[in-house]
Amino acid sequence: MEHLLEQTRRLAAAFRVARGRGFRLKDFDPADTLGLKSEAKARLSLRESVREISRLQEMLYAQDRWGVLLIFQAMDAAGKDGTIKHVLSGVNPQGCDVVAFKAPSDEELDHDYLWRCSKRLPERGRLGIFNRSYYEETLVVRVHPELLAKEKLPLRLLGKKLWKHRFEDIRHFERYLARNGIVVRKFFLHLSKKEQRRRFLERLRNPAKHWKFSSSDVRERERWDDYMDAYEDMIRRTATEAAPWYVVPADNKWFTRIVVSSVVIETLASLDLEYPEIDQTRRKELAAARAALGKRGE
Ligand code: ATP
Ligand code: MG
Repeated sequence: MEHLLEQTRRLAAAFRVARGRGFRLKDFDPADTLGLKSEAKARLSLRESVREISRLQEMLYAQDRWGVLLIFQAMDAAGKDGTIKHVLSGVNPQGCDVVAFKAPSDEELDHDYLWRCSKRLPERGRLGIFNRSYYEETLVVRVHPELLAKEKLPLRLLGKKLWKHRFEDIRHFERYLARNGIVVRKFFLHLSKKEQRRRFLERLRNPAKHWKFSSSDVRERERWDDYMDAYEDMIRRTATEAAPWYVVPADNKWFTRIVVSSVVIETLASLDLEYPEIDQTRRKELAAARAALGKRGE
């Protein structure tokens, strides 16, 4: 166990960006495995991690004080879905909500952009997962100005400072959440362009994976460099102590999973989780219940 916690801390720290200033994407290698070579060994500790996440999540739920929001952003085929599935595989579904955000509906476009996300924030005691999030507003919407035009903002608000303001509002929103006991951790699954190509080709080759392929994914790939600029700027301007980003290498799926689960463990372990105290009255109640069950032994 000690070993797991130590590894967890090391992996989480290596990819954490808690101060955005000066952040450069090229300082992070998508194929990094921090010298870990063996996928087999990683699998073992992944199993251990899943058990630990499940143990901590149960306490989170019982204590009912903190909420935890995990945000996932990435290029297509970086492995968001698979990572979420693996990392949460031991977690009680009742204590956990996964929400995927797609292109906004007409109703959603009639509101401010945080509206649909704030409606789905995790309650106290729960783990919330955002598969994509309000960060799309600084990514796809930034790369495709025609999407911004559809957002029905009053024209005079569409000035030069729009992006600066969005980042500022997001930072403040996340600080507000932190101050309310909703802990925010953000993951950018950092995939190389080369590995994305390989995964797209695999999707096209393998009939069981055809459903995952969309032609728009290839169109977005053509804008790769614009996306990378948008991601870099987003991390620079929204990585904070209150809500850090984790730039997780995504070229090796086993490594992605082990890093993300490490961050989840570290985050949960950093909260003062405990089962609620039982007071005198409650203790009497429990004793009475035990006695009643004992009497009616049929
Ligand atoms: P994913 O692509 O996440 O694996 P999917 O293929 O099931 O999931 P899609 O129908 O492709 O889902 O929906 C995701 C798409 O929605 C992405 O291309 C994303 O950029 C877009 N999207 C998400 N949020 C917004 C937003 N606020 N404005 C515009 N487009 C958005
Ligand atoms: Mg898609």
